[in-house]
Amino acid sequence: MKHFKHLQATSADQAAKEAAGGTAWVMAGGTDLLGTLKDEIFPEYPETVIDLKTIEGMDSIEEDGDALRIGALAKLSAVAESELVRQHAQALAQAAERVASPTIRHMGTLGGNVCQMHRCWYFRVPDDRFHCRRKGGKTCPARIGDNRYHSIFGDDNGCYAVSSHDTAPALVALGATVVTTKREIPAEEFFGAHGHRSNVLEDGEVVKEFRVPKTAKSAFQKFALRKSIDFPVVNCAVAQGSDRATRVVLGGVYAAPWRSKEAEEAVAGGVTAESAAKAGEAAVSVAKPLGKNAYKVDIARTLVKRTLTDLV
Ligand SMILES: Cc1cc2nc3c(=O)[nH]c(=O)nc-3n(C[C@H](O)[C@H](O)[C@H](O)COP(=O)(O)OP(=O)(O)OC[C@H]3O[C@@H](n4cnc5c(N)ncnc54)[C@H](O)[C@@H]3O)c2cc1C
Repeated sequence: MKHFKHLQATSADQAAKEAAGGTAWVMAGGTDLLGTLKDEIFPEYPETVIDLKTIEGMDSIEEDGDALRIGALAKLSAVAESELVRQHAQALAQAAERVASPTIRHMGTLGGNVCQMHRCWYFRVPDDRFHCRRKGGKTCPARIGDNRYHSIFGDDNGCYAVSSHDTAPALVALGATVVTTKREIPAEEFFGAHGHRSNVLEDGEVVKEFRVPKTAKSAFQKFALRKSIDFPVVNCAVAQGSDRATRVVLGGVYAAPWRSKEAEEAVAGGVTAESAAKAGEAAVSVAKPLGKNAYKVDIARTLVKRTLTDLV
């Protein structure tokens, strides 16, 4: 690990100002960032790491009319256990509860979960040994390499890594808004493969909070190889908004959470055991698996059906 300066922020705006030049990176719980710095996976390295945890009041979970306001520094364990989140945004509580292990949920924050970098073993290999597409290289090694955990819905700007943040599909399904120091971004437009980031944030932009519309019915399910602690192979969140329209969002299948319009159409007339099964088929009807990951298509199909069935 290389040396870096450590700055304790007192406000999100101060952190954003310090990070504006791109040489200072922000850190919340550090459960993701510190591993990437230790392994020196990037060609570039921060001169300063700005600790957001010292900002007061950015970890609250509150009701605000028809929505919940969840601070970016809210711990995943707090999100999972919050009665407000369980009652009004169940899919998010269920997703937070399935992240990693109790220790990581006590350290990791919702902001950090949403902003964590992609889990691609070529992207994350120590010492930048694969200078992949995301790091300015010409190709994505996963396209013809070992792609068993990669995208089944094609590439995002040449990258086949997947979004494996558990809370991200839940936030998209619930129609949440990401509030940063600069703007408000619908969760659906927040994610994607952009340089080392998994989102559209710019240098000097810090996530302050999430606004999550209260939603009567929502659910989340995750398939991972180990139940105790593991990233999703595929996860799925569904939510029924006040207009009764159902959103279906998959994770672990593309560089950003994948909203399946095909599945949503299949349940447009209402969610029943039969329409949920049809939605599973519809969701994967447009899949384009790579050489080693066709098995994920079956998992995605089943997970869409099962998660929708939770709404019945
Ligand atoms: C063993 C292990 C298992 C894991 N399993 C899972 C899993 O099953 N599911 C899952 O979803 N994740 C998993 N994770 C990934 C991740 O560490 C956690 O999800 C955690 O939520 C990250 O939060 P953090 O606060 O520690 O983020 P940090 O490590 O502090 O930050 C992560 C990234 O987000 C950026 N960032 C943090 N906060 C903000 C903010 N407010 N504004 C802008 N940028 C910000 C940082 O700059 C950094 O790039 C796992 C990690 C480990 C080490």
